[in-house]
Amino acid sequence: MMRIIFYRNKCIGCNYCVEVWPERWQMSKRDGKCVLVGGKKKGQVYRADFGEHERDQNEKAADVCPVDVIRVEG
Ligand code: SF4
Repeated sequence: MMRIIFYRNKCIGCNYCVEVWPERWQMSKRDGKCVLVGGKKKGQVYRADFGEHERDQNEKAADVCPVDVIRVEG
């Protein structure tokens, strides 16, 4: 099992991660930042576990994020 760590408060809403993997990343109309689908909030940080089938897409989303607020562990 792998995990995404998302530092949402520093997201600038560029939409790049959404273009890479819209099943996991969606844009919020409320505040213009993206939302980690299935993410659980702890403090300022959101976390979500995912399986091997999502590895490439989530690593690519982390790579394209210009402010480096997506981390993939595992
Ligand atoms: S790529 Fe990074 S800054 Fe851009 S919307 Fe996604 S998390 Fe936010």
